[in-house]
Amino acid sequence: MSISEKIKEINGQLLPPAKLVAVSKFHPAEAIMEAYNAGQRLFGESREPELISKFNALPKDIEWHFIGHLQTNKVKMIVPFVKLIHSVDSVRLLAEINKQAGKLGRMVDCLMELHVAKEESKYGFTIDEAEDLFCSGALAGYANVRVRGLMAMATNSEDMDLVRSEFHAVSSLFNRLKEKYNIDTLSMGMTADWKVAVEEGSTLIRIGSYIFGERNY
Ligand SMILES: *Cc1c(COP(=O)(O)O)cnc(C)c1O
Repeated sequence: MSISEKIKEINGQLLPPAKLVAVSKFHPAEAIMEAYNAGQRLFGESREPELISKFNALPKDIEWHFIGHLQTNKVKMIVPFVKLIHSVDSVRLLAEINKQAGKLGRMVDCLMELHVAKEESKYGFTIDEAEDLFCSGALAGYANVRVRGLMAMATNSEDMDLVRSEFHAVSSLFNRLKEKYNIDTLSMGMTADWKVAVEEGSTLIRIGSYIFGERNY
């Protein structure tokens, strides 16, 4: 299947409010344009310079989402045009996004990244830390950041019961927080596990390799 057929196939399976973020990292502008011409407008990138060069080269109605580990010293580069930062994994990063957004007089939408997977290498807050952060009222102190919800990656495993239990823990927290706070976005699911993520209530699905093929790092 072509890129545009895959975009249509996935979007045809998502019910509102769920949306697809096409993860275009390491893929060229031509591949993005093929997805764009099939109607796709949300794209995810994980490296700052790549996001900037693609932003400059491609249509301005694309929403660029930053999904990778964001270094504090690179926040300034992407804050002018990023639509949503999925991967806020520390309070220090949140503070820096707030500072840079404040300098530009803009609001930046963010998600708090949770660490629920078994791998040591994944970044993020624990469920308890994230809950404390909301409940302490600390987020109100960041006037130029709007925390819209949560993001998580499941363990890279074929054990779909494990994957489901991890997504379920995150969506339970999301639903608890949603009763008290104004949040609406739950970013979960990639090529290997997005159908499980959708069943567990994900509203943003981040799919890369299924759409664009393998990445050449
Ligand atoms: C690369 C990446 C994806 C996409 O992964 P695929 O398995 O290629 O669909 C999703 N989320 C994050 C955070 C990523 O870094």
